[in-house]
Amino acid sequence: MIIGGGTAITGNPETFRDVLDVIFTGEAEESYISFLNLVLAEKKKEKILETSAKIKGVFVPTISSVYKKVYYKNFPEDFSESVFFTPRGEFGECKLIELTRGCPAKCKFCISRTLYSPPRFADKDLVKDVVKESKINKIGLLGASVSYHPDIKEIMEFIIKEGRIFSISSLRADKVDNDFLELLYRGGNRTITIAPEAGTERLRKLIEKGISEEDIEKTIELSLKKGFSGIRLYFMIGLPEETEEDIVAIVNIGKRIKLIESHMKKRFIKRSFTISPFVPKRNTAFSCYPMEEVKVLSEKINYLRKRLSSEGIEVLYDPPKTARLEYDLSRHNILTQI
Ligand code: SF4
Repeated sequence: MIIGGGTAITGNPETFRDVLDVIFTGEAEESYISFLNLVLAEKKKEKILETSAKIKGVFVPTISSVYKKVYYKNFPEDFSESVFFTPRGEFGECKLIELTRGCPAKCKFCISRTLYSPPRFADKDLVKDVVKESKINKIGLLGASVSYHPDIKEIMEFIIKEGRIFSISSLRADKVDNDFLELLYRGGNRTITIAPEAGTERLRKLIEKGISEEDIEKTIELSLKKGFSGIRLYFMIGLPEETEEDIVAIVNIGKRIKLIESHMKKRFIKRSFTISPFVPKRNTAFSCYPMEEVKVLSEKINYLRKRLSSEGIEVLYDPPKTARLEYDLSRHNILTQI
């Protein structure tokens, strides 16, 4: 049997109808024990498929016509942590802890918040136990909404007191304050990462990103003051109702970083912007929007590369052709979700 699951597949399981025998839709912790028990008890593939189609959160393309997404109710107490460590792995010798699942923010393009709903936060005392029991020096705090965790500062403080270092995924600029940055720095972080997603406040409001110009500037200033040596910003292009002004505004944010640097007489050693084409995904508020043409996206990327590199900003980007493939996979043969 070929079995699949995860965000991309749950986003549109029908795409994988011809490839996968069994698809876990939603969070598999809720359904895989029943499925494994079935596999252990039953030897015939046809019988396994027939019975597993009745398990909530298991979609069998040859039998089911609708699918149900499930979420894991025990998450705050039972969160994921890595158990294999190898220097040759993607995360090297880093103890990964899934601190949050889902996200309380309302970004209209985001599949993570709609698929992993409601948002949940790992129990802080249990997180501390995991850190304490681990012999690994570096802790990776994972999740789409780490800066929303109600006890994030206490957890960071604890890791530092234990003599470890930690890394976290990108921050919400509106959640960053002096104490937060201080803890990040003491925890061994030297690059600050935020995701404004759009150049103008108008477009950020439209996509409900909820980050103001002031939030961005404050994060840049505080990070410089604290001594961070790198800054990384994430943007999307091709968003609904995007205009030329929104693209130019991305360059202007780059210019503002330089202005703030000269005003504060401090510099980041490394500044980078990552540009991703907007891919309208199923299960998001923007699913009905078309995707911008590859040619137009490529032109925008070329413009940004040229203008930002002259401001001393490195530009990384997702190739529009790959984004187009992502779009096709996410919309192929749309199926009913219940
Ligand atoms: S803050 Fe990030 S994870 Fe949360 S809804 Fe917005 S894009 Fe998604």
